[in-house]
Amino acid sequence: MCRSENGPEAIDILAVDDEQVNLLLLSGLLRREGINVVCAKSGYEALALLSKHDFALILLDVMMPGLDGFDTAERIRAGEATRHIPIIFITAISKEQRHVFRGYEAGAVDYLIKPFDHDILKNKVRVFVDMHRQRLAVQRAGEALARTVAELRSSSRALSDSRARYQSLFNSMLNGFVLLSMEEGAALPQARVLEVNPAMERMMDRPREMLVDRTVSELLPNLEGHLRDFTAEVARSGRSGLVETYVADLRRWLRIQAYVPGPGLLALVAEDTTARRKAEETVQERTFQDPLTGLANRALLLNRLEQSMERSRRRLNYLYAVLFLDLDRFKPINSSLGPAAGDKVLCIVAERIKAAARGLDTVARCGADEFALILEELKNPAEAMQVARRVCREMARPMEIDGHTLRFTASVGVVLGPADYAQPEDLLRDAGIAMEHARTLGGGKVKVFKWAMRTRAQYALNVNQHLHQALDRDEFRLHYQPIVDLKTMALCGFEALIRWQTDGRLVPPGDFIPHAEQTGLIVPIGQWALAEACRTTSLWRSRFALPEGFTVAVNLSARQFAQPDLVRQLARILEETGLDPQLLKLEITETMMMQNPESVVHKLRGLREMGVKVGIDDFGTGYSSLSYLRRFPINTLKVDRSFVSDLDAFENLVIVRTIVSLAHNLGFDVVAEGIETERQRDFLAGLNCEFGQGFLFSKAVSGDQAQDLLDVCGPAHAGEA
Ligand code: C2E
Ligand code: CA
Ligand code: CA
Repeated sequence: MCRSENGPEAIDILAVDDEQVNLLLLSGLLRREGINVVCAKSGYEALALLSKHDFALILLDVMMPGLDGFDTAERIRAGEATRHIPIIFITAISKEQRHVFRGYEAGAVDYLIKPFDHDILKNKVRVFVDMHRQRLAVQRAGEALARTVAELRSSSRALSDSRARYQSLFNSMLNGFVLLSMEEGAALPQARVLEVNPAMERMMDRPREMLVDRTVSELLPNLEGHLRDFTAEVARSGRSGLVETYVADLRRWLRIQAYVPGPGLLALVAEDTTARRKAEETVQERTFQDPLTGLANRALLLNRLEQSMERSRRRLNYLYAVLFLDLDRFKPINSSLGPAAGDKVLCIVAERIKAAARGLDTVARCGADEFALILEELKNPAEAMQVARRVCREMARPMEIDGHTLRFTASVGVVLGPADYAQPEDLLRDAGIAMEHARTLGGGKVKVFKWAMRTRAQYALNVNQHLHQALDRDEFRLHYQPIVDLKTMALCGFEALIRWQTDGRLVPPGDFIPHAEQTGLIVPIGQWALAEACRTTSLWRSRFALPEGFTVAVNLSARQFAQPDLVRQLARILEETGLDPQLLKLEITETMMMQNPESVVHKLRGLREMGVKVGIDDFGTGYSSLSYLRRFPINTLKVDRSFVSDLDAFENLVIVRTIVSLAHNLGFDVVAEGIETERQRDFLAGLNCEFGQGFLFSKAVSGDQAQDLLDVCGPAHAGEA
């Protein structure tokens, strides 16, 4: 540590690389900057050198045989005397973030990717060398000061020049200085302040008079235990030492050097490192945190996941799980209430997930409305399911956003570890597949990943190709689900629901409509469904006396509805099939309506003029604005199945009641979807909800079966009426 006082002295830095040519290059480059590069060809050699030099910086190659760069860094961080030495990793490995994280965790200050730019290297190194020089200067000033104080104390003659030296040094120091008297065997709290410099007055936020002669415990009542141990060791051994610590009483980070300037004395020089610490923390936050919710981001999640996978490879019976969570029906929020409301929702969701997770779990946001949790140290797989269900329960609680009460459910996919994955990304992907699976079950569900699901996901890839052929091969079918009058139980209409007949099975719409939506194939498929429903209904009309107000409802997809010539197409179909427009009802979803209300109103007027009826599907899930609802020329609201299926939940009950009375006020009638029990039917009938549809009455049946139904109930009822 002691060096010549004159001229800019050579500062040592350590370069560690297993390749001699790299070491030669580094030392050649930096020697010209007045920097002395000490070389080590392995991590072990580097560790041995640390005790012999005072390095300003370590340049550390990541890929080395034996102890690699990260392991070496971890050991450097573990050593009391070496943990403060800055490290710059030099790596040729990909810049993939995961590796960068490992570096940060091991305490990297910075990164250089090989082949590095010489000027960048020199600039980076220079910063640390300058910092080191300053630190040495401070340290020397502190030592000189302490010697002077000792001199003063030991001689009664107060030498005027020595006093002047003392004063100027003391006052100009940027770092805080305090000289303490400490009896042998006493601890820091009992030490008494003999002298402080102005910088220390500022740090303590008190004038000198209020500091001198006080004990440390009077000034810092909550003194950190390790600071006490550290000073005790310095006092005992007489060797100077350095710590960096947070001092809670001062609300600052301090880098403290302690010396023993003479018997019964202890000197502390404190550098305020709060600002640097803060800067480091923000860098960390920016790299690892989702700025909106403060949760871990995807990259940190992958990093932690890799650690869990590693742990489970090393420890027998180590159980962990990953939950992948996606909010059902979040997207319409941004379009209907605006992105600020969407952000609020996400923050509340983040809080709720955190509340439902356990302390040691990692909670991350890894997509717009996607979240993931890593559950560690599980006692058994059931524990993972408990957490998953707790998260779902938390999610289902209503939330207040800008005066709206919103309700969400979340679909959750689970992968249980240990699982045989090479990459954390693969594990996360499968959790995502399980989540998709859960979502197709109708939202608010938890699904554990199974291998069969992956085949299913692959199937999705093939679906698009097959859908093309399906149209040509005439493989689509319409099934018809009865809609009944809840008061009289009479049949009063059908909803046409599409199926895909392929390989001897009937594929439900949930398995192919979303793909068709994505590719645009939904437009010809939807056209087919519309024409087919009109043909069939027209046929029924010619054969049976249909009940009063009878309609067949056909679902329109967003893309289909958005077609500019929709009204013209429909007119042509009606003409070709000769169908009375009164018998046709088009269902569009609430979310579709709210995406572009102005143009929707316009289009609906066109349909109304043709005499076609319109129903709003999945009502209650899209946050319609009431003022718009009033302006839509529609006939029917269909209460979403999710409310009907859980009428035991008080909020659902209130929502259904509100929807029904709202609809009646606006002159619409109401169809409740998904009625499965008599209790649900009775409750809805009690609310004067006109119509019902659900498995209690019938599933969707083939065209032939529907015709049979009309044959037995339709004419009879019509006749009675
Ligand atoms: P949706 O329009 O909400 O249709 C109602 C769905 O709820 C149908 O599912 C129906 O079988 C089901 N459902 C009815 N009652 C009950 C019940 O009591 N319990 C339960 N658990 N479910 C019930 P499906 O046939 O699988 O259709 C799913 C969705 O596919 C439809 O939802 C609709 O959005 C879409 N879809 C069906 N056909 C077409 C079509 O021709 N064109 C378009 N664009 N979409 C269609
Ligand atoms: Ca529908
Ligand atoms: Ca519906």
